[in-house]
Amino acid sequence: MVHNLSILGSTGSIGTQTLDVARNLDLKISALSAYSSIELLEDQIREFRPALAVVYDEKKAADLKVRIADTDTKVLSGMDGLFEICHDSSELLVNSVVGMVGLAPTMEAIKAKKNIAFANKETLVAGGELVMNAVRENGVKLLPVDSEHSAIFQCLQAAPSDKKLKKILLTASGGPFFGKTADELKDVTVEQALNHPNWDMGAKITIDSATMMNKGLEIIEAAWLFDTDPDDIEVVVHRESIIHSMVEFTDNSILAQLGMPDMRIPIQYAITYPNRVPSPVPEIDWKTLSKMTFYSADDTTFKCLAACKCAMKKGGLYPAVANGANEVANKLFREKKISFLDIGDLVSAAVDQLTVEPAKTLDDVFAADQLARDFVINNI
Ligand code: MN
Repeated sequence: MVHNLSILGSTGSIGTQTLDVARNLDLKISALSAYSSIELLEDQIREFRPALAVVYDEKKAADLKVRIADTDTKVLSGMDGLFEICHDSSELLVNSVVGMVGLAPTMEAIKAKKNIAFANKETLVAGGELVMNAVRENGVKLLPVDSEHSAIFQCLQAAPSDKKLKKILLTASGGPFFGKTADELKDVTVEQALNHPNWDMGAKITIDSATMMNKGLEIIEAAWLFDTDPDDIEVVVHRESIIHSMVEFTDNSILAQLGMPDMRIPIQYAITYPNRVPSPVPEIDWKTLSKMTFYSADDTTFKCLAACKCAMKKGGLYPAVANGANEVANKLFREKKISFLDIGDLVSAAVDQLTVEPAKTLDDVFAADQLARDFVINNI
């Protein structure tokens, strides 16, 4: 089992829950990083005493340096700082950065032959083939932290060869607006969209969950992680979020992974894999779990879902376009500058209207991402 970790994005939802797991398992922390939340980062540094802390924002990094001058923790900033974490002595890097900013550090860590517990789905969506090629060339493990992908990964431990895999059944909670029509979604507020029924997550992913962009990104993520044709990935809406995904074999036998909706289970499994140890997450109470329900997904109302499937079919950098357009549209909605339904319209339009060539280098990925961001800004 891994004994020491570094965390990119330690002040976010996955980051803080990773530290909860680390506290429970008594793991050492080599490095922590945050985008700009230095108050929480300072608390984390005082508790876990990492050798290195990185704040992406340069000015905030300078502030942190003053605040923790009495500790032995070195403070760095920017992408150079994140790269230094990729080369530190930790046995596992937890990448829980939100969004495309995680792509360059992911590639750097892979080149440094570091195993990664992976929660930064946007970078796999955008970087797809380049990231997976680098993973194979460097012989590193990309251990999924996303609950659905952890579930698929856990189910596949029971399969001697993935050759017999027929399809992946990717479960979705459906988010707060499941069953609603486009007309009913016209005027939804940011506050309503942030109110997720089952999972307590960061703001960006909670909005992605409400638009079902999150599930679209996860189809692409699963296609890359498990080398599966996107047509063999079926989204199943499961409102209770008890089954976290399933795999179906060629004989129509299905394996599922179940548990309470608590990210500390998949986070811990990525750290202890292939072992298992006790966790603070409660057991399922079968006396109160009265039913589990299943529905098909509505990708007509939730256009982001259809746009992601379309992007993956078009291949190349179209998933990067879908992701880049969404990152901006999601943010504009949270800033109350566009409506909820605009998000799906903008992501679909970007995938339909832009033209991108397949990626040869990381710079090609960044260029496609920027093209999509500019498209959204120019079309609101
Ligand atoms: Mn997920």
